[in-house]
Amino acid sequence: MMGYMTPRITRLPVTALDALETLQTGPREVRAVGGVAVDKPLERLTIQRREPDEHDVEIAIEFCGLCHSDVHSVRGEWREVEYPYVPGHEIVGRVTRVGSAVTKHAVGDRVGIGCLVDSCRTCEGCTAGLEQFCTGSELGGGVGTYGAVDYRHHGEQTQGGYSESIVANEGYVLRIPESLDPAAAAPLLCAGITTYSPLRHAGVGEGTRVGVVGLGGLGHMAVKIAKAMGAQVTVFSRSEAKKDDAGALGADRYVTTSDAEQMQAASRSLDVIIDTVAAPHDLNEYLATLDLDGRLVQVGLPSEAMPPVDVRNLIFKRVSYTGSLIGGIAETQEMLDFCAEHGITADIEVISADEVNEAYDRMVAGDVKYRFVLDNSTLGEGSEPKEASA
Ligand code: NAP
Ligand code: ZN
Ligand code: ZN
Repeated sequence: MMGYMTPRITRLPVTALDALETLQTGPREVRAVGGVAVDKPLERLTIQRREPDEHDVEIAIEFCGLCHSDVHSVRGEWREVEYPYVPGHEIVGRVTRVGSAVTKHAVGDRVGIGCLVDSCRTCEGCTAGLEQFCTGSELGGGVGTYGAVDYRHHGEQTQGGYSESIVANEGYVLRIPESLDPAAAAPLLCAGITTYSPLRHAGVGEGTRVGVVGLGGLGHMAVKIAKAMGAQVTVFSRSEAKKDDAGALGADRYVTTSDAEQMQAASRSLDVIIDTVAAPHDLNEYLATLDLDGRLVQVGLPSEAMPPVDVRNLIFKRVSYTGSLIGGIAETQEMLDFCAEHGITADIEVISADEVNEAYDRMVAGDVKYRFVLDNSTLGEGSEPKEASA
């Protein structure tokens, strides 16, 4: 029963865009899909979203990409997590409500949220536009879009984009250019920025010889973005299966990594490698394909240890082995604008809320071309969600 002092909690209408109920106040109860236990598939549930405060934006989510990090996270592969746990950090939607002090976004704007919804805003990282490397909070680091402690909001766990809406500080909300298809633009918010940032940081430009290891969600974005930067792109993939696709994505060369002869032929032929593989693998064979002063950037984050690097592969060609974590907020906007300018979006397969578990299994099996994207309007269809316990 709703008592006098109880905040009014309203459910978002079935189609997010019907929901431009800007006059409404109070928190909302929204439908979502999330993990309920480490050993159970994801299921439908409901979560609460806070009322936007004066600097917040509320977004009715239209689409959310499925990243391999969602799978690692919700399955507890990286660390123990608390359930219910709603993944999703490739979020695109329309603004439905704004706080009184919001200046960056207006009701009706198409916007996005990536991997961060907050950070300390004052540390060296944050002030340099490197919010992903925030060191400022006592909890260490920026606030992830899901599974993080939201220390500005009672320490609640953040819940991600497999849900009907989300509320976040306007500073962490990106503008999605209207020329981009919203479903195919969603993966730019993680897969796009995670590959754009290290390519830029490595100074990739006209004629740079770039290798991309693993042709999945991140990998296929790396190919498109590196090509748009003017690079010569080589794809490394486990089998011949994705050869035609790699060519269609713009790759200049394809190396089947299970074929020792092809790997040998690629020796000393690259300047920069972006490694997106989600499982442990031997880096030494990729280091061998780098030329003098080459660099291998690790972005794939397997949950188990990698085989050791033979340091001779670094020393004798002055090669660097480095890593990269998503990108800052300003750089994410730069990437979105770059993608709009070059007409770049992800190659996607749109799924419904009932297909998330199957999509996870297919992702782990390497059967994704090349990103699954949840149509969030389907959260309002089919079976009724259970009440989440927290
Ligand atoms: P994905 O779509 O599943 O693609 C990963 C690709 O890696 C696969 O398509 C496959 O390519 C290759 N691969 C997978 N398992 C393999 C195995 N056992 N042996 C060899 N190759 C294998 O995943 P994603 O969403 O692109 O994410 C990739 C990784 O990046 C994940 O670990 C994710 O957590 C991480 N990530 C990191 C950041 C960051 O900021 N650093 C951001 C986002 C994601 P082929 O079939 O072509 O060989
Ligand atoms: Zn991701
Ligand atoms: Zn900070």
